[in-house]
Amino acid sequence: MPNHRGMNGIASPEQTAGKSSSEGTDHDTAILARWVIPVDSDTPRVLERHAVCIKGERIAAIVPNDDVGKTHTARRVVDHSDTHALIPGLINCHAHTGMTMLRGYSDDQELQVWLHKFIWPAEGKFCSPDFVKYGTELAAYEMLKTGTTLVNDMYFIPDVSAEVFRRAKLRAVLGEAVIDFKTGKVKEMVDGSIDFIRREKAKNDPWITPSVVTHSSYTVGEEWHAALARANNSELQVPFHTHLHETEKEVADYHTQHGISAIDSLDRAGVLNERLVAAHCVWLTDEEIDKLAERGVNVCHNPKSNLKLASGVCDVVKLLRRGVNVCLGTDSSCSNNALNMMSEMQLASLLAKMKANSAAALDDFTALRLATINGARALGKADVLGSLEVGKYADVVAVDLSADELLPIYDPISHLVYTTARKVTDVWIGGHHVVDGGHVTTVQVEKEQIKLFAEKIREFKAEILAKDAQEADKAKGG
Ligand SMILES: [Zn+2]
Repeated sequence: MPNHRGMNGIASPEQTAGKSSSEGTDHDTAILARWVIPVDSDTPRVLERHAVCIKGERIAAIVPNDDVGKTHTARRVVDHSDTHALIPGLINCHAHTGMTMLRGYSDDQELQVWLHKFIWPAEGKFCSPDFVKYGTELAAYEMLKTGTTLVNDMYFIPDVSAEVFRRAKLRAVLGEAVIDFKTGKVKEMVDGSIDFIRREKAKNDPWITPSVVTHSSYTVGEEWHAALARANNSELQVPFHTHLHETEKEVADYHTQHGISAIDSLDRAGVLNERLVAAHCVWLTDEEIDKLAERGVNVCHNPKSNLKLASGVCDVVKLLRRGVNVCLGTDSSCSNNALNMMSEMQLASLLAKMKANSAAALDDFTALRLATINGARALGKADVLGSLEVGKYADVVAVDLSADELLPIYDPISHLVYTTARKVTDVWIGGHHVVDGGHVTTVQVEKEQIKLFAEKIREFKAEILAKDAQEADKAKGG
């Protein structure tokens, strides 16, 4: 049986006793676990029978379970000592949470048909503060339940979604998405996006980080990218989020129209740097990969969305080997149709193996890193998020590995990534217990309102399909 890691990375309580403990023992919460997987180094490390102790919003100590109640006391003890693995909060680096009202509204279409015929018209008609609020609430609920503690979001009306994320106590990086629908409103959008960033920056809120967001190079001109990059590289200094080189056709069309690649255009505009999170990057030449690496660009891989839209397979292994920081995302719940980072980890590993024609291409621990510390690095937050370490924010996910169908367990990291019966039961974000025993404590889903809204969207789609059928009939009739 292959055992690439063996049990070498697993440390017993005796080996680690006292090593990660801070002074003072009056913690708010101590979470006892069967395994703590801190993701605090390049090599896998599993702490057997350890506890994560939280004080305020930070991790105060990581100690053997046996020390809790003795050298380390806490006002509340959560006992998962026989059942759970604790991992850092998962970081979804590419999502469109406001679109969640369109989950399952249109599937099985080519990307450009899907966007132009179904998605953009529906957004044009329905995208309102209520649409964004219900969608973001649904998204926040699902993300919390599946262990996401920070999302890099790209959508419209960010004031509404920021409010939802604040209430949900789910960290978010977000901004007003700029997209040129040729209605003469780009300047307004660019100004609005900068205004949002200034307002949010002034709040200095640990839950909300504003960002520059453009849909893509093929929907936003280079001059607007240059204007936003100038503002960002001097005054704003926040993350920059865009789609880049997602499909082969998009890359070819861009080159035909502009004589250069979108990557070179963004480089000329001053966008390619360590603040950029570029979603997809499926179609890249070796020279382009080197350019992304040199500029410190972060690539967000979205395996399920790329599969569902048949966009191609991002060469994650090559990107990592050449020094690009690769993180993970879900994309929207229209192209996924879930926002579950646990399954993205699994797909990222499987897809990389297929792409490289090697079962050793991307192992389980690397998949976990993509979803945690690499995401934190991409969003400029690796000093406070992305791993379980004393002093970092207490963004902690407890995963239940006690189901009979998960037996036996030789290696909890393998089970986290490759099985499906593992279940997130508890999540803490900044010390707040936002998922408690499988129940989300901070956000509710307004079921009746959502159903009523969805009826209108259903009727709208029926009209599109009826019009299609009429046109097809006409074409048949000559
Ligand atoms: Zn996207």
